[in-house]
Amino acid sequence: MTPDAEFSYELLVCRYAELAWHPSDGLGDDLRPSIVARQLGTKERRWDTLVIEVDPAAFAARRRFGDRTMDSDLLHVVRHAPAEWAWYRDALPHPGYPWRYVRQAVHRTAGRDLIEKRRDGNRIRIRRKRPYPDWVERIVAIENKPDLDRSAADRLADQLAHDVETGLADEAWLATETTGERVEPALLRELPVEAGILATDFSGGVDADAADVAWHPSGLAPAEGERRDPETETLRLEIAERAYGKGWRSYHETMRPDCRHFELRREGRALVPYCAAKEKVPTSRECSGSCPSFSPEPPQWRTKGWPIEGGPGKGFKRVLARRRARERDRAESVE
Ligand code: SF4
Repeated sequence: MTPDAEFSYELLVCRYAELAWHPSDGLGDDLRPSIVARQLGTKERRWDTLVIEVDPAAFAARRRFGDRTMDSDLLHVVRHAPAEWAWYRDALPHPGYPWRYVRQAVHRTAGRDLIEKRRDGNRIRIRRKRPYPDWVERIVAIENKPDLDRSAADRLADQLAHDVETGLADEAWLATETTGERVEPALLRELPVEAGILATDFSGGVDADAADVAWHPSGLAPAEGERRDPETETLRLEIAERAYGKGWRSYHETMRPDCRHFELRREGRALVPYCAAKEKVPTSRECSGSCPSFSPEPPQWRTKGWPIEGGPGKGFKRVLARRRARERDRAESVE
């Protein structure tokens, strides 16, 4: 597959994960409550697809803080904000950088209505609105390689070895397209045994049974009785927060759904972007203001001539936002 096809493959893997998580549990077993995001990670390592398994009640409590990501500065304030009014310097642990930056974060946090703030003389006091919940159960990283060849397997082996070493994720997978064929055993031998292999067949679109487990992963989480160090825990939470805010349907933010050639097409139970001019799934880089075929949707599409208020561009965004909200509702309601 070409790099373009890797983008569309990634979207299909994301949708599959939503429909079938966890693949080792078997079809028909209850879904694990989870949310899915793409292209996230740390400075050293960016993952293609991330599945954040959540505790439903705690996730519902997280949602009460709103739909947006909390960055590391906001998290520092929200996680440690006290139940009773207190000077922020008494209440929060020293962040390891100057307090004036924390003060800015306190203002930002209160500005987003995540905590309460009041001035007492020249001191800023804070109080939490509600406790920040412990909503992240497990973080699972998936690398997507529709065409697994020797060089891809070598690169992946290094990346997955890094995942095993850092312990940021609880589990790592490789997803590869097989269209009914077996994954070549010689290539599998290159990969760390801890990583699971998901053999997908999306030729008929995405559904919950569009993949098989070719190799079961072993957990990367610390053994019973061991704990991750607090920095790793914080980093994991920051990643989970970004996954929560971003999801995997935010590609429209960097694409041009307001172009008359932009469409959302169905691939089984997935909706993926499609360019009618190029007759393929465009990448974010292609589908931008510099695209030579870009053509703005005619103004009349945005008014009376189009059944969706605001024209198809705005309509696509609303469809994707609604789907994201639906998936969040589902993660929260799983018993
Ligand atoms: S023509 Fe260009 S901008 Fe328009 S949908 Fe296709 S790739 Fe995107």
